[in-house]
Amino acid sequence: MALPELESAPVAARTQNCSDGGRRPLAIVLFGSPGSGKGTQSKFLVRWLGIPQISTGDMLREHVRNGTAIGTSIAARMKAGELVPDRLVNELVFERLSRPDCERGFILDGYPRTPEQAAEMKRALGASGTTEVVIHLLVDYNVIIARMAGRRVCPKCGTLYNAISNRPAKEGVCDLDGETLVVREDDRPEVVRARLNEYEALTRPVIDFFRRSGVKMFEENASDYTPQEIFEKIRVDLADLTERGLTELVGK
Ligand SMILES: [Zn+2]
Repeated sequence: MALPELESAPVAARTQNCSDGGRRPLAIVLFGSPGSGKGTQSKFLVRWLGIPQISTGDMLREHVRNGTAIGTSIAARMKAGELVPDRLVNELVFERLSRPDCERGFILDGYPRTPEQAAEMKRALGASGTTEVVIHLLVDYNVIIARMAGRRVCPKCGTLYNAISNRPAKEGVCDLDGETLVVREDDRPEVVRARLNEYEALTRPVIDFFRRSGVKMFEENASDYTPQEIFEKIRVDLADLTERGLTELVGK
């Protein structure tokens, strides 16, 4: 498969064709720590706006599966434990964004991961007249750690329980097979804290880049509300983006 050169041209050419009628494609960059419910909000946005969610992880797997040059190159680096260069990641993303299903907009998940990627993306999207907006789901890390610590799993059948909304009938025992429930390695407080710290260290510089460069950013408290309530706040945020609201952005 032929891939476009790393420049804004493919994205720009495509969006200019489709931006008649005053509509501009909407690029939503979604950030959220582990436990913030980012995946759920992403699904809500896809369903509401009818635009695709672009995940670098999914794209990479697709390229590896199809044996493309870029996929093979990235997979080899990852296997060797090397960092994947920003140039390759950008190439992968821009190729995806030039496909027809991204004409009206898209939701980016897991990209950009570095300020350099963010700068390149901003250049490309700016050239194409795309409206860029960042949504950052903020969580109280202590709440997340406590929530994860309340989870239990059945080692036999894999059923998940938690102390708040899905307790087993008998404390510490699986309802289905009577097996003693255990705490998953990934849910242990020290493991969760390490993941949150890693997220913070990786994401903070990218968020700072967006803030400095004046990209519209909405930060929503995602620890104290239900997923539906958080989504309502995001809808209000997005409707406020322009005077004509979302009609101008994605024709909604
Ligand atoms: Zn069980």
